[in-house]
Amino acid sequence: MNLIEHYVNGSKYTGSSKRKGKVFNPATGEVSSEVLLGSKEDLNKTVDFAKKAFENWSTKPPIQRARIIFKYKELIEKNYDELTKLIVSEHGKVYEDAKGSLTRGLEVIEFACGIPQMLKGEFTENVGTDIDSWSLRQPLGVCAGITPFNFPAMVPMWMFPMAIACGNTFILKPSEKDPSCSMKLAELFSEAGLPDGVLNIVNGDKEVVESILENKDIQAVSFVGSTPIAKYIYENAAKNEKRVQALGGAKNHCVVMPDCDLDQAVNGLMGAAYGSAGERCMAQSVAVAVGSIGDELVSELSKKVEKLKVGPGMDKSSEMGPLVTKEHLEKVTGYVDLGIKEGANLVVDGRKMKLQGYENGFYIGGCLFDNVTKDMRIYKEEIFGPVLSVVRVDDFNEATKLVNNHEFGNGTSIYTRDGDVGRTFANKIKVGMVGINIPIPVPVAHHSFGGWKRSLFGDQHMHGPEGVRFYTKLKTITSRWPSGVRSNPEFIMPTMK
Ligand code: NAD
Repeated sequence: MNLIEHYVNGSKYTGSSKRKGKVFNPATGEVSSEVLLGSKEDLNKTVDFAKKAFENWSTKPPIQRARIIFKYKELIEKNYDELTKLIVSEHGKVYEDAKGSLTRGLEVIEFACGIPQMLKGEFTENVGTDIDSWSLRQPLGVCAGITPFNFPAMVPMWMFPMAIACGNTFILKPSEKDPSCSMKLAELFSEAGLPDGVLNIVNGDKEVVESILENKDIQAVSFVGSTPIAKYIYENAAKNEKRVQALGGAKNHCVVMPDCDLDQAVNGLMGAAYGSAGERCMAQSVAVAVGSIGDELVSELSKKVEKLKVGPGMDKSSEMGPLVTKEHLEKVTGYVDLGIKEGANLVVDGRKMKLQGYENGFYIGGCLFDNVTKDMRIYKEEIFGPVLSVVRVDDFNEATKLVNNHEFGNGTSIYTRDGDVGRTFANKIKVGMVGINIPIPVPVAHHSFGGWKRSLFGDQHMHGPEGVRFYTKLKTITSRWPSGVRSNPEFIMPTMK
């Protein structure tokens, strides 16, 4: 059985813990590997290596750090196919989708190559007579990242390239469900010339997470995962005086206005609701049908959902792969059962699908509910599977009120031909990432990613300018070089003369 270890101080590391977790191939349901579940001792040892590595890495000129990141970008491009296959084999998403997610991660690395420009700081000459002032951003120290199963490459790549480019060292705890891609990403960074101890991986579960929260030498924690854990991480990291950004779950609404291009809206919704089997924090799981569009929208969607091609991720003709684990499949199926009990109308039922030759894989077909109401649990809670709920409302105001009153605020979209409606929606909606005739408005790497409300705890979003701010501390220096000017001590608040 293949054993996935840790990656510490530039090489694979077994550590002290004997605990192991199972990693499945969701397409077949077979156990493909075992992963070591690290201990507190493993984490603390890794922090010591990362702390030592920080001494040199943080003083390396940003241009030299950037050169290593440029090389890393080339190596990732050379290893695209292998990295993509690792994502498919442990997460289950289809090959082209996995490749797309890797590209979005790579874009953060491309952005990180520009770190000398981003760390330039600000300078003002003569803030007072013969006095200059400048602000600079310095790295924090050892930073940690804790990531979810649904983007085994992209989400870690939102974090460590930015942290490392800024001069920090980093410890990643990937999801124990699909850790192999992170291991390969760390090996490639070493091959690119990254000094030992700058990027480390400690695999594991709650025990490693608790140890990260407790370790006094970890300065900042980036987390992405479900809302209850995000809140827990936010509260406990802050209690232990760490900087923290904790991104949580979502329930993303797509508002479909009666004047929209319906084909465009239906195609957008199909990809956004069923792509990656709905296991995306930006997946659209609620279609808000406004006014007269409801019947036609449901009719067009149902024709396409019925024809969805579900299959193993490595089959080039598959549009949707399996879910990540059997437990998750049971959870999603349970929500579909619940929706029926709650009185929603199940228009397309994907629960019974079986794939010949892959009977033990974790598959479910696309599911579509109509007449879902805001008091139902299938509307309120995140299902994280290929289940789309249609909620019918009378007008635009009711649609925006629905979105604004939901506890989550990650992403949302509107389909309309009316510029006034689109602009009002973008201005008034209480959601962090908004699309106008765009189904999945994930910001590109030089902007920043993050939601509002209970989809993000903390102040700073991921990557882009906010990523640089999160992984650096601001220092402002005010200086005067004596040129004969002397003054007596002053006991009032200094004002620049
Ligand atoms: P999860 O919260 O179960 O796990 C995330 C990480 O936390 C994993 O590394 C896991 O090992 C760790 N963890 C789990 N339980 C823990 C506990 N009790 N104590 C300490 N650590 C624990 O999330 P998941 O199932 O891996 O991922 C899916 C979730 O992530 C969804 O809710 C999805 O919306 C969310 N997500 C959000 C974003 C975003 O940007 N907002 C992006 C991707 C995924």
